[in-house]
Amino acid sequence: MTETATPQPLPQLTGFSKDFYGFCKQRELRFQRCKTCGEWRHVPREMCTGCGSFEWEWAQSAGRGTVFTWCVVERALHPGWVAAQPYAVVVVELDEEVRLVTQVNDVSPAELEMGMAVEVVFDDVTPDITLPHFRRRSG
Ligand SMILES: [Zn+2]
Repeated sequence: MTETATPQPLPQLTGFSKDFYGFCKQRELRFQRCKTCGEWRHVPREMCTGCGSFEWEWAQSAGRGTVFTWCVVERALHPGWVAAQPYAVVVVELDEEVRLVTQVNDVSPAELEMGMAVEVVFDDVTPDITLPHFRRRSG
C-alpha cells in the first residue's frame, strides 16, 4: 500500500488575500496603512478602526519584529500537519505594530522566547503561493 501525504492547507487567493500573497510572491511584506491617520492594520479590512477612514494603501513593512507569543501544537488537527508536529504557531509583532500569525523557521518550540528578534523570509510552498515566515536575527 502506498501512502500519500496530505498537503497542508493553503490560503485562498481571493480578495485582500490575493493582494497580500501576491506581494509575498514578489518578496514584499505589505500591510494596509490608513491614508488618513497612518495606522497600520492586519488582517486586511476596508475601514480603519483608529479613525473610521476608508482611505488606505498597501504599505511595505521592513519585515522586522519580535516574537509576541506562540502555542505548540502537539497533535495536529489537520492531516497535512501531522509530520511537522510538534510545531509552534507563532504571533510575530512587526515594528509597524501589526501582528502576523506565522512560523519561525529553524527554531524549535523549546527555543522560542518572547521578544526574540526575527525577520521575514519568503518560502515558496507552491508555484503560486509564497508564505511569509520568519527567522531569528541578531540585534
Ligand atoms: Zn485611520
